[in-house]
Amino acid sequence: MDIGSLPSYLAPGQMGAWAIYLEQIRRVLPYLGKLGSLAETLTHPKRIVIVDVPIRLDDGSMAHFEGYRVQHSTARGPGKGGVRFHQDVGLSDVMALAAWMSIKNAAVNVPFGGAKGGVRVDPAKLSLAELERLTRRYTSEINFMIGPDKDIPAPDVNTNEQIMAWMMDTYSMNQGRTLTGVVTGKPLSLGGSLGRRDATGRGVFVVAAETAKREKIDLASARCIIQGFGNVGSAAAKLFHAHGCKVIAVQTALGTIHSAAGLAPERLIEYQQRTGSILGFPGAETISAQDFWPLPCEFLVPAALEAQITAANAPKIRARIVVEGANGPTTPEADDILHERGILVVPDVIANAGGVTVSYFEWVQDFSSFFWSESEINARLDRIMLEALHAIWEVAARHRVSLRTATFIVACERILQARQLRGLYP
Ligand code: NAD
Repeated sequence: MDIGSLPSYLAPGQMGAWAIYLEQIRRVLPYLGKLGSLAETLTHPKRIVIVDVPIRLDDGSMAHFEGYRVQHSTARGPGKGGVRFHQDVGLSDVMALAAWMSIKNAAVNVPFGGAKGGVRVDPAKLSLAELERLTRRYTSEINFMIGPDKDIPAPDVNTNEQIMAWMMDTYSMNQGRTLTGVVTGKPLSLGGSLGRRDATGRGVFVVAAETAKREKIDLASARCIIQGFGNVGSAAAKLFHAHGCKVIAVQTALGTIHSAAGLAPERLIEYQQRTGSILGFPGAETISAQDFWPLPCEFLVPAALEAQITAANAPKIRARIVVEGANGPTTPEADDILHERGILVVPDVIANAGGVTVSYFEWVQDFSSFFWSESEINARLDRIMLEALHAIWEVAARHRVSLRTATFIVACERILQARQLRGLYP
C-alpha cells in the first residue's frame, strides 16, 4: 500500500504538515492487523474545498484571501474541527489539522469525524469591521458543507468566541433560522458552553498531572515552560500555577520571557491584554527564542503552531515531559530524538483533546437546549480525558510503542472499524 504518495494538488515541497501526518500513519500500520488493509482511506481526505474570500477594505478597495475547509473523515460522524486565521496557513496544514481531528475525536471516542478550516490572512492587519466581513464571507463560501449535522467549526489560532458568533449568525441567516449548533466555542449567551474557553488548556493540565503522578514527579515542586500564550497556553499556565508548578518561561510570536521564581499567569494574561505583548512583564527578563528550549524543567508545553520541536532543537530540550497543547508541534525526527533521550511525549491527539470534548458537550447542549453546570462539565471532561489516557498507556505498554503511536492505534482502529462496518458505497 502506498500511503506516501503526493496528492496532485500539493506541489512537491508543499507537503508540510501533511508529510508529518503521513509518517505518523506509516508508523501505526504494523499494529493495525487486518484493518490495516483499509488504512489507505486515512491518507485521502474526503473533501477539500478552496474558496476565494474577497472583502471590501475600510478604504474602499477590495482584497482577496484564500480560504479552506477540509473534511478528512466523516466515517464516525459529522466533521468537526477549528478554523485558523493565519498568514502562513496553507492547504497541507489544513489537511493535516483535519486528519489530526479525526484521530483526536476517535481517541477520546466522541462521535465526530475530522475537519479543519483556515483563511490565509494576518488578522492583526484587519480592522474589526474587516475581520467581520472576512468571517462572514468565508462562512458563506463554505456554507454548503457545514451544518450542525454535517461539519461543525470551532475556534483555533487567531479565532475566538466573537468570530464563532459571526459564523453562527451568517450560517443562520443563510438558512433562514437560528441554528446555534453549527459552531462550537460560541459566547455563553449564544448557546456556548461553560468551561469551553479553558477546556483545551484544562485537558493539557489534566493529562500532564496524571502523567506526572505516573512518573513520580511532584507537581508542587515542578517547573513548566510554555510556548504560546493564547487560548491554550494561558489556560494551561493558570492550572499549572494553581497546582504549585512554577511557570518559569513563556514564549509567544513576539518574544520570550523568563523568571526563575515563576510567572503569575493571571497577571501575565492581564498584562498581555493591556499592552499587547508579554514583553516587559515586571519581574521577568527577556531571553532569546533559542534560549527557551534548553531551560531545565519538568514540563514543556508547546501551545503555538506546528513543527516547532525539530531535529535542530530537540537535542537541546531539558524537560522530562513534553505535553503537546498545539497540533503537530513535534516533527517525526524530533519525536525519535526525544524518545532516544528518554523524554516522554504526551501527544497532541490526546493532550489537547479537551477542547473538542467540551465542544462535543456544547453541541449536545445546543441540541437539547438544556445547559449543564461548569462543575458537571469539568468532571465529565476529566473523566473522558483520563479514561482515554489510561487506555492509551495500556496499548503503549502492550505494543511497546510511544504514546503517539498508541493513540494512533486506538484511534485508527475505531475509524477503520466504522469504515469497515459501513462498507463501500455504492
Ligand atoms: P491562539 O491564537 O489563542 O494563540 C497562539 C499563541 O501562539 C499566541 O500566543 C502566539 O503569539 C503564539 N505563537 C504564534 N506563532 C508563534 C511562534 N512562531 N513562536 C512562538 N509563539 C508563537 O491559539 P490557540 O487557540 O491557543 O491554539 C494554539 C495551538 O493549540 C494551535 O496549534 C491549535 O491548533 C491548538 N489547539 C487549539 C485548540 C483550541 O481550543 N483553541 C484546541 C486544540 C488544539
